[in-house]
Amino acid sequence: MDGSRLRLLVDMDGVIYRGGRALPGLTEFFDWISAEGHAYMLVTNNASRSPEEIAVQLHGMGIHVPSERIVTSAMATAVWLREQAPEGARVLCIGGSGLWKELYGNDSSFIPDDANPEWVVVGLDRNVTYARIAAASLAVQRGARYVATNPDLTFPAEDGLLPGAGALQAVITLSAGIQPVVIGKPEPKLFEMALRLMPDGGEVVVLGDRLDTDIKAGTCIGARTVLLLTGVSTREEAATGDVRPDEIYSDIPEMLRHWRQRG
Ligand SMILES: [Mg+2]
Repeated sequence: MDGSRLRLLVDMDGVIYRGGRALPGLTEFFDWISAEGHAYMLVTNNASRSPEEIAVQLHGMGIHVPSERIVTSAMATAVWLREQAPEGARVLCIGGSGLWKELYGNDSSFIPDDANPEWVVVGLDRNVTYARIAAASLAVQRGARYVATNPDLTFPAEDGLLPGAGALQAVITLSAGIQPVVIGKPEPKLFEMALRLMPDGGEVVVLGDRLDTDIKAGTCIGARTVLLLTGVSTREEAATGDVRPDEIYSDIPEMLRHWRQRG
């Protein structure tokens, strides 16, 4: 059994839910994972909410996943920062409650400091002010290390695309003239952190709906990559772009049918 064991890194939006609704085949999918003894993590670039908040949100859609099986770019950023920065490092954080909890919560020793930070960490903050963006930019110009949770320029809302973490980061990047270290997809660090939270051994498989983030990051870590057509990227884009997934399925039920036949 060990040889066929998988470590599944599963994107959320466009893979297990879309527009606030669970996509089909999830009960079968999670039953199959536990019956076959595979391991999985749900991996999201979203740094605004904590795994607990995300688990509650998923529960509301009828998707029952323990919060320990969810990893966010905020978590990965905090883990990475703890490896880079000494205890008590001064950090200016622009981001939502999920990021604040990870950086300044119980498990963390970082100290909030907007005036003279050693590190500047930027995610999506819907209440950000010009003054804080300016403070972040000035700190980066003075030599603070600059870290981005996730580089998503936009995120979808009912009336169109809203500015995402990447759009806020761009203001700092352009004004300071310095690029951030990026933790989230398409960079590989988020997936690498997720794998460290999973048992060793077994082929790594990435399930995603976006070629430019999920599949690209999956390729970076040498995973088998699976594009599901329930989200953003299309079969045509997969056939013509520079990022090519190993497998493409219209949805999770079709993927499971193929994998079961393959045995
Ligand atoms: Mg997605």
